[in-house]
Amino acid sequence: MKERTALIYSPDFNRFSYGEYHPFKVQRFRLTFELMEEYGLVGLPGSDVFNCEPADDTDLLSFHSKNYLAKLKEFSSSDEPRADFRYGLGDADNPVFKGLYEWASMGAGSTMKAALLVADEGYRTVFSLAGGWHHAHRSRASGFSYLNDCVIAINRLLERGKRVVYLDIDAHHCDGVQEAFYDTDRVLTISIHESGIYFFPGTGFEKETGTGRGKGFTVNVPLMEHTDDALFMKAFDEVAFPLIAAYDPDIMVTQIGADTFRTDPLTRLEITTHSYAYIMKKLKALKIPWVAVGGGGYDNLNVARAWTLAWSIMNDTEISPRLPDRFVRTIRNMGYGNKMLLDAMHWAEEDDRNRALDAVEKSIAIIKKKIFPFIIGEYGKDPG
Ligand SMILES: [Zn+2]
Repeated sequence: MKERTALIYSPDFNRFSYGEYHPFKVQRFRLTFELMEEYGLVGLPGSDVFNCEPADDTDLLSFHSKNYLAKLKEFSSSDEPRADFRYGLGDADNPVFKGLYEWASMGAGSTMKAALLVADEGYRTVFSLAGGWHHAHRSRASGFSYLNDCVIAINRLLERGKRVVYLDIDAHHCDGVQEAFYDTDRVLTISIHESGIYFFPGTGFEKETGTGRGKGFTVNVPLMEHTDDALFMKAFDEVAFPLIAAYDPDIMVTQIGADTFRTDPLTRLEITTHSYAYIMKKLKALKIPWVAVGGGGYDNLNVARAWTLAWSIMNDTEISPRLPDRFVRTIRNMGYGNKMLLDAMHWAEEDDRNRALDAVEKSIAIIKKKIFPFIIGEYGKDPG
């Protein structure tokens, strides 16, 4: 029998807007869902679609502070321009808009539902499209994130005694999630991202490895700009894959943001669907119950292509590498000339690539020395 899967999506996302000039556009969810539909990936046998229910205060309080939630609710009541920088609200990244609280709690509810379907209802893989808000802190909005759905959902899994791997392949470091689980060994947090040296949020270095019982259970692979497909796969293969396999969690939660892609306007990595699909296939091959959440992605077509591809892999369904004709016509009207779902493997320019290769090799060596002994034991130690 086919393993059960579910997608969590809502047409209501389109009611919200971060503003005309904000790089995050809610329309990307509808575009993604449309592409999934065009490929026949919605309503597959054994696969369900659920609407988003907002998370309630009890759930949100498992991570966020009362004062912060009260402020979010207050600011959510109108479009009147307001700001409170103590809470990270009202700046260019985290604008205040009407319905803000509802929007953010829908994302949190969506990912929590995904986690519970996997933990309690026997679903093998559930994809929360509008999740992945990994920068939200306990009492502060940050990096387009207001409520940290990843942390809230993982908290529910921990309550059930589950051991969890959180893997984040978004271009940005998952600072909010790392903070939440920095001192526990019940969540292995792995992030592969563009280096924070000159890049938001400025954290996620190899030396951040956890504290107390959590020592060795936080893993960061910072990548240089121009890291391409081959190097992205190398980072995944040499760090994330063996660590996830060795830790052998009850459930893995993956944030699969698509802002690593080479045409993303906010980032400088050079990833394509080639390495993205490769990673999805390897994650699937681990056969671990899987909660996937969306995340970044500011080239809307990349988001649609990446998440559709991921969803096809989650459902073991081969789809054409060529985008469906009707979808090609839809995106042409939006200014996109693409016809392909799958990109050819991309190599960065030689000098850029050599610098990125040096950096990733150094990071991998540090992680093998500092982290592998904790998670993999003797096997991970350098024989020299
Ligand atoms: Zn991002």
